[in-house]
Amino acid sequence: MIEQTMELPASLHPISSDKICKRSFEVVQRLQQAGHQAYLVGGCVRDLLLGQTPKDFDIATSAHPEQVRRLFSSCRLIGRRFRLAHIYFGRDYIEVATFRAPHDSGAEGQGQVNDDGRITHDNVYGTLEEDVWRRDFTINALFYDPIQNEILDYVGGLRDLEERRIRLIGDPESRFREDPVRMLRAVRFAAKLDFSISPETRDLILPMAPLLDGVASARLFDEILKMLHSGAGRRTFELLREYDILPFLLPVTDDSLYEDSTGIFARLLEISLNNTDRRVRSGLSVMPPFLYAVLLWHKVSTLALQIQEDDYPEMQAMQIAASEVLNEQVDFTAIPRRFSNITREIWGLQLRFRVRDLRRASALLHNNRFRAAYDFLCLRAQAGEPVADDCAWWTAFQEAEGEARVALCEKPDRSRTRNNRRRRRS
Ligand code: ATP
Ligand code: MG
Repeated sequence: MIEQTMELPASLHPISSDKICKRSFEVVQRLQQAGHQAYLVGGCVRDLLLGQTPKDFDIATSAHPEQVRRLFSSCRLIGRRFRLAHIYFGRDYIEVATFRAPHDSGAEGQGQVNDDGRITHDNVYGTLEEDVWRRDFTINALFYDPIQNEILDYVGGLRDLEERRIRLIGDPESRFREDPVRMLRAVRFAAKLDFSISPETRDLILPMAPLLDGVASARLFDEILKMLHSGAGRRTFELLREYDILPFLLPVTDDSLYEDSTGIFARLLEISLNNTDRRVRSGLSVMPPFLYAVLLWHKVSTLALQIQEDDYPEMQAMQIAASEVLNEQVDFTAIPRRFSNITREIWGLQLRFRVRDLRRASALLHNNRFRAAYDFLCLRAQAGEPVADDCAWWTAFQEAEGEARVALCEKPDRSRTRNNRRRRRS
């Protein structure tokens, strides 16, 4: 059934032209002037109607990628699995996607589905009417023509926006099978927009979550960041647990939550995710290595203690544990090395926060990772780990200056230092 509505329910905001990014308006205009259809689409239309500020403005067009490239000199074509045009304005770009048809309707190689029903190539171009049905949720399938100021709704997206509901377009089972990441997207939008997930979509998540095993680990890593760094990370995490998705995404974290009978780890997660949400909402930076330092902390710290019992020095035990735990997680979601190296540093520095002599403490203060590691220490203290004294000392040490800073420190134990030197030489 095709539904096409242009009247907005009263509670949805009409889209005011000053909310639309000028560049995307101009791109739509240029495409239309060249004789193509072009619309703003997806998240930006949804967010504009909800009175929120869109993160980005995506465009859908009847023009093929090569045609888009010919119209815009700053255009670059990207992606093999899903070919797209990026039109650059300095370092920023606007994404322009050609309307897609069902993936099984094109020539061989343009659209491909594997044995699980998962789409592996999605480059069969089509019409606007075909494109609508390939989108994930009804609220993400609204098209807006900013020049005519007209909204196209073929799937009941306006009604679902009004009723604050996430609903898959088409047959939910095959849509999840085609792309299991849609389960994560459902949870992300439910948390971010504070919407419910409609029952026929929701009831399939639990039985179908194991399909996430087949998704490329790099894509899952990106999705984790989108979910937990969205400003609604705490709520998203709760939903991931509620729908039992966590074992397929963050199995180490999931095990830790069951293993830790003290509740300290659950509190650490809660406090950290709340903290991250506050930072994102105030426009402050958040870093993936810090998120992973939190998510994997329980496992890495308990494993390091076990390794120490086998007579390994503390720092070495931590390094071995870090490698084991990161390797375990990487099987599920790739963590780029530039991030995991920082996660290791944050963990390693936790052991050095016990130093109290001026020279070593001052050196630690200048370590590149001091700030992140200190924030992590304070979260641990807040969650109930016995590091509150260390946290208080380092807070005081940073605030103190000159003599006051010296007064906080212990004199280095010279006899021990000398003995150590002697032992090393012999
Ligand atoms: P956000 O505010 O997070 O950017 P968004 O809805 O714009 O939300 P994007 O990932 O930017 O999400 O995707 C843009 C649009 O592309 C979506 O609104 C949806 O119509 C379509 N889309 C994205 N991912 C999928 C998918 N996995 N399956 C089907 N359609 C998708
Ligand atoms: Mg978007």
